[in-house]
Amino acid sequence: MPKPECEEALDRLFEYIDHELPEEEIHRIGEHLKECPPCEAEHRINEKIKRLVNRTGHDVAPEELRDRILATIRATRPEAGA
Ligand SMILES: [Zn+2]
Repeated sequence: MPKPECEEALDRLFEYIDHELPEEEIHRIGEHLKECPPCEAEHRINEKIKRLVNRTGHDVAPEELRDRILATIRATRPEAGA
């Protein structure tokens, strides 16, 4: 089972990246990412996906790509599985 802080951070990652969260939540998640390498890794991957999507300029759905990447991460991160 992921820790509650991890679940929250991962759950809000896209909103965090898009700065769609209240200041205090952005701060809290930012602090968590700094001290939690697995979440930080996921954050970086999602940022990369977002940049790729932005660069294409299309309204492509990154879900499939994201799911694939997340599946790979989970496969190497037993604590985040199930
Ligand atoms: Zn975490």
